[in-house]
Amino acid sequence: MLNNFIDQVIKFPIWKNDGKSYVKLNELQKHQIKEFLNKVKSGIYKFEKNPCLCGKTNEELDVVISEKDRYGIPCEIVLCRNCGLIRLKERLDNYSTVEFYKNDYRNIYVGKEIASEEFFLDQIKRGETFLILFDKFVGINNINTVFEIGCGAGGILYPFYLKGKKVSGCDFNENYLKFGIEKGLDLYLGEVNTQKTPHKSQDLVILSHVLEHLNNPIEAMNNIIELVSDGKYLIVEVPGIFYISRTYFNPILYFQNAHVYNYYYYYLKIFFETLGLEVLYGDERCTFLLKKPLGWTRKRVTAIFDKNMQLWAKKVEVTLKKYYFIHLLKLNPYYIRRGFIHLLDVLGLKDPIKTLIAKINKK
Ligand SMILES: [Zn+2]
Repeated sequence: MLNNFIDQVIKFPIWKNDGKSYVKLNELQKHQIKEFLNKVKSGIYKFEKNPCLCGKTNEELDVVISEKDRYGIPCEIVLCRNCGLIRLKERLDNYSTVEFYKNDYRNIYVGKEIASEEFFLDQIKRGETFLILFDKFVGINNINTVFEIGCGAGGILYPFYLKGKKVSGCDFNENYLKFGIEKGLDLYLGEVNTQKTPHKSQDLVILSHVLEHLNNPIEAMNNIIELVSDGKYLIVEVPGIFYISRTYFNPILYFQNAHVYNYYYYYLKIFFETLGLEVLYGDERCTFLLKKPLGWTRKRVTAIFDKNMQLWAKKVEVTLKKYYFIHLLKLNPYYIRRGFIHLLDVLGLKDPIKTLIAKINKK
C-alpha cells in the first residue's frame, strides 16, 4: 500500500534541469564542468541517440527520471519500462567519448589532476575484495595473469601483483597511469591493445566500474571475452541500481553523465549468459565472477531481453521513488535536529546540555 502511495505521489522527472550540483565541487571540478559544457556548446563534443539494450523501439516506454546528473550537468536520464535499465537518452559519440575520458573525466569525478595515495589505497581495498572473492570461488593459484581495463592508477591490480601474479592494465588518463607505473605496475595508455594484450592471453580480466560507461556494451564485452584464455575468468562490477540506497543518501548522487547504461543483477545475469559466459557469482551490488567456457565463440546478438525484465522494470521504478521518498523523510529530521542544536547554541545552552548528556550517559 505504501508503495502504491509513493508511486502515485512522486512524479517523474524527479530532478529538473536547474544546473544545481548535489556534489560539493572544488575549483578544479567547477572549471572542468564549465570546459565540458563549452565543448558541448561549441560542437566539439557531439551526441548521438542511445537506444536501449533490450532492443525495444517504442520510445513511449521510456520515462525521463532526471534531467541532469549529480553535478548538475544537463542530460536526460531515462528508465526503460520494457527492461528496467536506466540510461542516457543521448550519449557522447565515439570520438567525443575518448576525448572526454582523456581530458575531463577524472578532473570532474575525482577532482584531482593526479592520482593521490588515498585514491590508490581505495583502489587497493577494492582489489583485496576481488581477490578474496576470487580465491573463495576459484582459488588464486588457478591463475597467473591478470589484466584490468580502465585501471586508473592500478590499485585494484596491486594485491594480485603482491601475490606474484603477472598484472597489466590500460586507461585513458596518463597522470593516473604514471602513479601506478611508479609503483612497479605494467600499465599502458589508451584502449585495449591486442599487440600488448593478445587474445586468450589472460587468466583473469577485471572490469571495475567500466561496463556502465561503454557505448556499445554487447560488442565491447565480446571483444573483452576474447582476451580471456579458454576456461578462465572475468570479474565485472558496476554500481547496481538496487544498491543505490546503500551507497548514497540521495538517489540523484547515483546518476552520472558518464554512465551510459545503469544495470541491476537480473539484467546482467541474462546479459552475461546470452554472451555465453557462466555466472559463478553475482549480487545486487552488481559484482560478478564469470567463467569463459572452453570453445567459446563470439555471440552475434544486437539486443538482450527476456520477459521477466518487464516485472523488474516496475520494481526499479517503484524502488527509485521509494529511495527518493525515504531520502526526503530522513532529510527532515536531520535538519530539524541541526536547527534545534543551532537554537541551543544561540541561547548559550548547547555546551551545558552536552555536559549534562555526557554525565547521564556515564551513569
Ligand atoms: Zn530497455
